[in-house]
Amino acid sequence: MAYAYDDQNIFAKILRGEIPNDTVMETEHSLAFRDIRPQAPQHVLVIPKGPYVTFDHFALEASEAEIVDYTRTIGEICKMMGIQPGEGGAGYRTLSNAGEDAVQEVPHLHVHILAGRPLGPMLMRA
Ligand code: AMP
Repeated sequence: MAYAYDDQNIFAKILRGEIPNDTVMETEHSLAFRDIRPQAPQHVLVIPKGPYVTFDHFALEASEAEIVDYTRTIGEICKMMGIQPGEGGAGYRTLSNAGEDAVQEVPHLHVHILAGRPLGPMLMRA
């Protein structure tokens, strides 16, 4: 089944400027802003400007220009946050929830970048 994009989701409203956000970086195809309920001292969300629901949707259907822009934006934000392990930073976690098993709240692709404290095991033990 093809993805149906709901343009009333909160990140679509942020992209249209209908609600405010704490922008960290904006590029031609991507926007990064601070999570409103941070779960680590540094918690940034990176979204594509295009109407993609999940990472697989984006990876399969976005243009190469969008994919390059989005990926580079994530790298630039890691650099800006000073969290790159290869540059003396203490590291970070990227994650992207998709669909019901992952409890995706907002149906517009977002990668979380979490950093600033030890982040514990990858997943909660069942
Ligand atoms: P997920 O469960 O991966 O869909 O996460 C959605 C994230 O969006 C949560 O971490 C929320 O705190 C965050 N969020 C929801 N509304 C806003 C908003 N208006 N500005 C920034 N972050 C938001």
